[in-house]
Amino acid sequence: MSDVSLKTNKLANFINGEWMEVESSKAVINPATGEELVQVPLSGAKCVDDAAAAAKKAQKEWRLVPAPQRAEVLYQVGYLMKERKERLSQLLTMENGKVIEEARGEVQEGIDMAFYMAGEGRRLFGQTTPAELQNKFAMSQRTPVGVVGIITPWNFPIAIATWKSFPAIVAGNAVIWKPATETPIMAFELAKIFEEAGLPEGVLNVVFGAGSEIGDAMVHHDDIRVISFTGSNDTGRHIASEGGKQLKKVSLEMGGKNAVIVMDDADVDLAVEGIIWSAFGTSGQRCTACSRVIVHEAVKETLEERLLAEMEKLTIGNGLNESIKVGPIINKAGLEKIKSYTEIGKNEGAKLLAGGYELTEGDNANGNYFAPTLFTDATADMRIAQEEIFGPVVSLIPVKSFEEAIEVNNGVTYGLSSSIFTNDVNRVFKAQRDLDTGIVYVNAGTTGAEIHLPFGGTKGTGNGHRDSGVQALDVFTEWRAIYVDYSGKLQRAQIDVD
Ligand code: NAD
Repeated sequence: MSDVSLKTNKLANFINGEWMEVESSKAVINPATGEELVQVPLSGAKCVDDAAAAAKKAQKEWRLVPAPQRAEVLYQVGYLMKERKERLSQLLTMENGKVIEEARGEVQEGIDMAFYMAGEGRRLFGQTTPAELQNKFAMSQRTPVGVVGIITPWNFPIAIATWKSFPAIVAGNAVIWKPATETPIMAFELAKIFEEAGLPEGVLNVVFGAGSEIGDAMVHHDDIRVISFTGSNDTGRHIASEGGKQLKKVSLEMGGKNAVIVMDDADVDLAVEGIIWSAFGTSGQRCTACSRVIVHEAVKETLEERLLAEMEKLTIGNGLNESIKVGPIINKAGLEKIKSYTEIGKNEGAKLLAGGYELTEGDNANGNYFAPTLFTDATADMRIAQEEIFGPVVSLIPVKSFEEAIEVNNGVTYGLSSSIFTNDVNRVFKAQRDLDTGIVYVNAGTTGAEIHLPFGGTKGTGNGHRDSGVQALDVFTEWRAIYVDYSGKLQRAQIDVD
């Protein structure tokens, strides 16, 4: 099915522009087939020290390279990614399992980010403002922070890395990147692209290894001043509390419990399409995956019928096959967790309408497959309606009014993404005002973010920072206020103003 190969059976760290092998390693498994793809290094904390030393040295020079020239490297990265889009997409499907069409979309997101952030090389806008005093000039500008650490999850192994590393690099920082051990191939490929694009040695360093070892060493390293993390809430909280002790800037993007609201005036067929795409794409393993459908009771039965009909058409299997719509779950642990929610939902009194089981027969026997699952008659307080399942499981929660729908949407600890299907313009505007999530969609599902807008969530999803968009630069820059007094005399602010 695939014509790409890695030409190596063991990946290596990329430190100071060199590929460094590490003795210890573990297998990266294709979740669609159970086959070993490659060995990923399990580095020790010493590799983080080496990477930090290289990054610190490199950043001293890199910050002085004019930003438009730094951006030239990113343009080159964008061209190379574009040239290799199909290779990257196939490798992404092989290590992560998402279907090839979605993998192409994810790689495209990285390409878009390269060109968008390269454009920032000629912007990186600050402010000029009037000064209080005569013959005095005031301005603010962004300055790089120094050495930054990025820690990424397996579910978007290339897009999320580009959301973080591209703004960091164009802003003049040096980066140490720890990818998830499940999906190291995208990191390996992207580092090779940076190398070919002419990034000076030490500006990007990739260290593979366990979160508890490498991630922890990064969070505790004195020379790493920023940690930009995407992943689960437990890990994020741990990183925030440990990083906080060192007054590090910690940017967290974490879980979601995203809902689609379907009102009584909605185009139900359109809503079904939005739900299918948001709930079962990437096998429900997106942070923005729809895992709750809040449905007005007047259209509940129609929605159930049409959803079930569309779910029956979903083909499940190896995502390299173009006809497959739902790929595998990342690993056995993920599969077990998802499976456990079938019993949880049933015991709580929700009605299982479809799915709820693992697929173990025929072509699916060696991968981690779970049937698209639909519960109905769930209540807002059930665990299946509150907890992030991270799999192809959706719960329908019936409501009686628009106001109740908003309340149910907001009644979870997360706040990443939400959506409403309605044709009432007043409801549209009230919803975008009142839905307490970082991303709101109207007449579209809960996924589909574009890279030039801020990405992130409210409440338990994050800690106020954003990935992508121009806002991503805030994570990787400090603001410097600069006053130039050209009066030739001492002028005291606030005092010599009369
Ligand atoms: P995870 O927290 O298990 O791992 C994320 C990364 O953190 C990995 O690289 C891991 O090795 C590392 N890590 C683990 N323990 C660590 C430690 N003690 N110190 C430092 N680093 C450590 O998450 P995951 O299972 O890879 O990803 C799934 C989660 O990510 C879901 O909760 C999903 O919602 C979330 N996610 C959020 C967004 C968003 O933007 N909000 C996007 C994608 C995924």
